Amino acid sequence: MPPKLTVVGSLNMDLIVRAPRIPAPGETIIGHGFHTAAGGKGANQAIAAARLGAQVSMVGRVGDDTYGQAQLSNLAADGVDTAFVTVDPQAHTGVALITVDDAGQNSIVVSSGANWQVNSADVDAAEAAIAGADMLLLQLETRPEVVARAVELAVRHGVPVVLNPAPARSLSPELLAQVTYLIPNESETALLAGQAVTDLDSARDAARKLRQMGVVTVVLTLGEQGALLVAEGGAEHVPAFRVNVVDTTAAGDAFVAGFAVAVASDQSPGQAMRFATATGALATTKLGAQPSLPGLEEVNRLLGR
Ligand code: ADP
Repeated sequence: MPPKLTVVGSLNMDLIVRAPRIPAPGETIIGHGFHTAAGGKGANQAIAAARLGAQVSMVGRVGDDTYGQAQLSNLAADGVDTAFVTVDPQAHTGVALITVDDAGQNSIVVSSGANWQVNSADVDAAEAAIAGADMLLLQLETRPEVVARAVELAVRHGVPVVLNPAPARSLSPELLAQVTYLIPNESETALLAGQAVTDLDSARDAARKLRQMGVVTVVLTLGEQGALLVAEGGAEHVPAFRVNVVDTTAAGDAFVAGFAVAVASDQSPGQAMRFATATGALATTKLGAQPSLPGLEEVNRLLGR
């Protein structure tokens, strides 16, 4: 039986250019290349999980425009159930303007559009999909009340919650206490814990603080340094795989999906970390968000399975 995941989150169209470097405020620079790719943290994680073999249902909104239609067909092409993705006649599909520099680092501006129109009633309409899932997967590209409602329904039905708190915003202690697995990157960890994260030791301290705030398990992603698991039994660092980095867009999304699928498949959090680290690494080896998300065979090959 494949693991079942329900994702409540964003769907964006990514508009991507490459440039020698990220421009400074007020500066115009000449870049090169242009392409569009379906993205949004919610849709990316839904598609990443589907490519890793999960049965995925997506809850969200797109606008009644070509980008929205492209999103729906992309999700369907990867086998994601879009029954709970509403087409909003009043809003534009979310867009992300992405600059990727020659070192593979990115800079992103998102205009949320329809993603910000997702409401609690949309989540209620998907209650059966949440109740029937092995895991609920959330990010922070929808309104706070949407995230809170989805968590409430998952807790009511005994479904574990994976929250990727991106982009960073502060969260109530009540919400944090209901999250089973919190997967922040360094800057999100610093914001949520209220303390700087500069190296492995400070990362461990900040993750422990998040556990004191009520999160059961913290999985901190550290880019090319890999990831850090902090749970009841202690802390474990998993180094990153060494790969040829082209574009880090969606590495975090791939990691989160990899972790959720592995845990929903009854792997231990430690095993899930290794699976997620491989998934994240592979996502950096290709340009774009969804086009770079690897399949199960590719991940198993990197893991030597
Ligand atoms: P985000 O993009 O959300 O800030 P990270 O940069 O921490 O997330 O990346 C998520 C995960 O992807 C990391 O924990 C790591 O496993 C993998 N990853 C990211 N960058 C690299 C890299 N340069 N080389 C190998 N793996 C990477």
